[in-house]
Amino acid sequence: MSNKPKLATLCVQAGWEPKNGEPRVLPIVQSTTFKYDNTEEMADLFDLKKEGYFYTRLQNPTNDAVARKIAALEDGIGAVLTSSGQAANFYAIFNICEAGDHIVASNEIYGGTYNLFAVTLKKLGIQCTFINQDATEEEIGRTFRPNTKALFGETVSNPGCKVLDIEKLARVAHQHGVPLIVDNTFPTPINCRPFEWGADIVTHSTTKYMDGHATQVGGCVVDSGHFDWEAHADRFPGLTTPDASYHGLTYTKAFGKMAYMTKLVAQLMRDLGSIPAPQNAFLLNLGLETLHLRMPRHCENAQRVAEFLLHDDRVAWVRYSGLPHDESHALAMKYLPNGSCGVLAFGLKGDRATAVRFMDSLRLIAIVTHVADARTCVLHPASHTHRQLSDEQLREAGVAPDLIRLSVGIEDVDDILHDIRQALDRL
Ligand SMILES: *Cc1c(COP(=O)(O)O)cnc(C)c1O
Repeated sequence: MSNKPKLATLCVQAGWEPKNGEPRVLPIVQSTTFKYDNTEEMADLFDLKKEGYFYTRLQNPTNDAVARKIAALEDGIGAVLTSSGQAANFYAIFNICEAGDHIVASNEIYGGTYNLFAVTLKKLGIQCTFINQDATEEEIGRTFRPNTKALFGETVSNPGCKVLDIEKLARVAHQHGVPLIVDNTFPTPINCRPFEWGADIVTHSTTKYMDGHATQVGGCVVDSGHFDWEAHADRFPGLTTPDASYHGLTYTKAFGKMAYMTKLVAQLMRDLGSIPAPQNAFLLNLGLETLHLRMPRHCENAQRVAEFLLHDDRVAWVRYSGLPHDESHALAMKYLPNGSCGVLAFGLKGDRATAVRFMDSLRLIAIVTHVADARTCVLHPASHTHRQLSDEQLREAGVAPDLIRLSVGIEDVDDILHDIRQALDRL
């Protein structure tokens, strides 16, 4: 047995290793700024010649400790916390793209990310082609262009609950000389570590299971350190040629494997500034300390609920990769042998109004614009999160108008089932 700490130990202890006499619990360094004794020391920090803290927009000890924990959980070489999951996905892409570039993304992704890629990136001059992630390697490969800079997908899609064939997508990405970026929000590293399957960059909305208590909005970008930017130097000039805003420093030459992470902080955080408050990082860290205990319970409860819904004749369909009939079941057996997460999707027999009546009859389960926390909650994407998408975009994003997203929490499953049963009885 290797001495490498296991996931449970990393959840509890990684990132903050107090020295003699220091606080046992990660301190909140609630300070914008850090003091230095002379001019030169601070100048070296600004020139990236030395590592150290000077301004919290760039780096903060509390935020860094939590980022180190997430990097350890994903087995990455480094991580950066962001103020939201949206910021994490934007930074992950924008760190290697500029106007005139192109990315390829699965169409089975979170509505906010879909909007970011389809609308906002387009305004910045970055085009996105959306693919069916179940298409063949050849079909996906045909969407790549000479200016394509990344391939993007979600390990388990929100809200469609589809499982990504990470190895297949990594092969296509690497054949075309670009990194595979995987949003691993739903399974978390407890249930899947995309780097083990060839992904290069992982992103998270830490707002979800990582926090687990719905107390803070946050995100994270993690780098595996596996992608060889220099081998594709022409494609990634931002990393492999001098940066005029840093006295002509070249990230790959100066920082080697840490080039992508360093640029993300030194350039994007400096200029765009989506940092989390240290207080939020502290709350996130409390959540992470029990992530390994909560995830199995979410999966266990969701499996029971999915099986219950499957056998109720008022239910039209259920999507949960833990169900043997599910179209993602085979992929889930490979990538998520311990379970996916607590989120499942289903539709009721009837019309849109049936879904609304069901949701309005729930008592224990709350209607909230949130997902993946300790409390069971429910959402109707067509009338909430995805309401800015047209019917066609809805279908493209794999969201049926009758889709109800149920995020199964860690309460007693009998109470959750009782609530669902009584709401179904009122239809
Ligand atoms: C929620 C979510 C996001 C966006 O994260 P925020 O923290 O809400 O900004 C991105 N990806 C996935 C898969 C999500 O579930």
